Amino acid sequence: MKALCVSDKVVNGLYNPSILTIARDVDIVLGCGDLPYYYLEYLLTMLNVPLYYVHGNHDSEVEYTPNGEPLTGPGGGTNLDGRICMVNGLMVAGLEGSVRYKSEGSFQYTEAEMWHKVFRLAGKLTLYRLFKKQTLDILVAHSPPLGIHNGRDHVHRGFNSFLWLMRVFKPRYLFHGHHHVYMRTEQTVTLYRQTIVNNIYPWKILDIAAERMYFQPAASP
Ligand SMILES: [Zn+2]
Repeated sequence: MKALCVSDKVVNGLYNPSILTIARDVDIVLGCGDLPYYYLEYLLTMLNVPLYYVHGNHDSEVEYTPNGEPLTGPGGGTNLDGRICMVNGLMVAGLEGSVRYKSEGSFQYTEAEMWHKVFRLAGKLTLYRLFKKQTLDILVAHSPPLGIHNGRDHVHRGFNSFLWLMRVFKPRYLFHGHHHVYMRTEQTVTLYRQTIVNNIYPWKILDIAAERMYFQPAASP
């Protein structure tokens, strides 16, 4: 399965008909947050593939079209927050938002609030594991895990609870955004236990094999 993953920034190179060439063979679009709904709708409409997304801290509860129509999300997309979806045989789940840095504001969570969301998702993942023998393949998040691809400030600090989720449920991938990457040398892919953590900013096309793969960390010298 090939996925167009997008996050945090409207890329002009994708927001025009050349998307049909660039992403002609993708099977799904995954949105990691902080993107306007019109952009996500454009991608799913042009590519005619399913869109699964989570909200980022800069997303609006309501976005208005040029005609004044209110949108609470990209039309035709599936909000993954706290949910599990089966996509082409792969299990995909999502967790929206960033750490809370303002007393008000949507899609921001304290660590305690995120633990609550993670435990609720963990309950659902446990049921899938017990009764359907299916395990999590991809976790789509906006924020990174604590200590992986984090920024230096509080706003761009990751969630500790994501580390726990990776240790217990061993997803193959965790895709996130939130931390903008400006240096080509900056690390955007990190292996944590059995999970490949990938900072999507601002977009990547990833080939996700249907088989479960395990990665052996390089032997220490
Ligand atoms: Zn963000």
